[in-house]
Amino acid sequence: MSNVLHIPSYLSAEHLGPWETFLVQIDRVEPHLAAELRPLVPILTRPMRALIVNVPIRLDNGEMAHFEGYRVQHNLSRGPGKGGIRFHPRVTLSEVMALSAWMTVKNAVVNVPFGGAKGGVRVDPKGLSPAELERLTRRYTSEIHILLGQDKDIPAPDINTNEQVMAWVMDTYSMNEGRTAMGVVTGKPVSLGGSLGRRDATGRGVFVSTAEAARRLGLEIAGARVAIQGFGNVGDAAARCFADAGARVVALQDDSGSIANPGGFDVRAVKAWRLEHGMLAGAPGAESISADDFWATDADILVAAALENQITAANARQIRARLITEGANGPTTPEADLILQDRGITVIPDVLANSGGVTVSYFEWVQDISAFFWSEEEINARLERIMREAFSAVWEAARQKGISLRTAAFVLGCERVLTAHKLRGLYP
Ligand code: GLU
Repeated sequence: MSNVLHIPSYLSAEHLGPWETFLVQIDRVEPHLAAELRPLVPILTRPMRALIVNVPIRLDNGEMAHFEGYRVQHNLSRGPGKGGIRFHPRVTLSEVMALSAWMTVKNAVVNVPFGGAKGGVRVDPKGLSPAELERLTRRYTSEIHILLGQDKDIPAPDINTNEQVMAWVMDTYSMNEGRTAMGVVTGKPVSLGGSLGRRDATGRGVFVSTAEAARRLGLEIAGARVAIQGFGNVGDAAARCFADAGARVVALQDDSGSIANPGGFDVRAVKAWRLEHGMLAGAPGAESISADDFWATDADILVAAALENQITAANARQIRARLITEGANGPTTPEADLILQDRGITVIPDVLANSGGVTVSYFEWVQDISAFFWSEEEINARLERIMREAFSAVWEAARQKGISLRTAAFVLGCERVLTAHKLRGLYP
């Protein structure tokens, strides 16, 4: 890595984790940035602010348990912090730092007026009762309260957090402030200041960006074979969009296993099965396959909508799809990225592909602040317009400069962030 990159003392230099992926990405982008902005790159290689909190809660059995929580604001040059809250037993500070930095870039790519932030609690929510989950959410929200506010930092859902969790975040913040503060968090239930279309927005955006790329690659969506890793909020909504557009979802993988159906799944029936049985195996029309077989699926499109570091040097050569869409944040390692590029596989990067979620979060925030709510048609139309515009700007930049879509998206996003930083100037 070049010497502009800085390794913070509070991460292990040997196991930098996802933050290292972000640093490598910045390193690859730097030479393509406008010359006058390049000296400002070091501001991106440190988070602006990181808060680590202890989250103690009373368990239902009367005992106490402690969980580690984080909220990181990577950069606020373009507006208040924005980014989800993740509950996962293996969340780390490095991961939340990387996720917050990807939010900075993502929010700039789709040009919504936010900086980048992210939160996480190191907990397995499946091991908690609903009452324990509520106490955890409320205590975590109280601990990070000093950072939050509709004009300071606005959380949203991420892995293992949902509309109910966002309702508790909103209520806890509001109770502590002594007023109802709708705009402090997005991804809320529609009956509580949430936005129509928010639930499916990330998956819909994944579909829109894939369709934009497919059109340019001469690949018909109708009849295309799609493999999807991850069948949570993003994978599920994307699967429905693909199926409704006439594509065939031929393979699915989640933490319970992998299944295939060369003829194409009835994705709604598979989802119903998954919810009822807690696993993909046995779903209607499903043949169980190995993880290796999943990666080698004979598909045209692969959607990576699970976690970080899924597409690695170990499986990047097995992938047969010509187009990969990153519904998750950071699913491709920097090594795998080079292999895929070498093999001529097009990768729509996370900061573009999954930006539909935060785009509709922006609409939710605007609706809450103005207390005026829009129709679902209007929301979906605006979402599609923003994503198409962002996609074509990234595609054009990649073509003109002869760089990958990831590097092009980072150039676009980082230049917007650094321009804002430059215009604001350095305080004091
Ligand atoms: N967690 C989502 C993401 O990674 C959504 C963030 C938001 O809506 O603020 O983009």
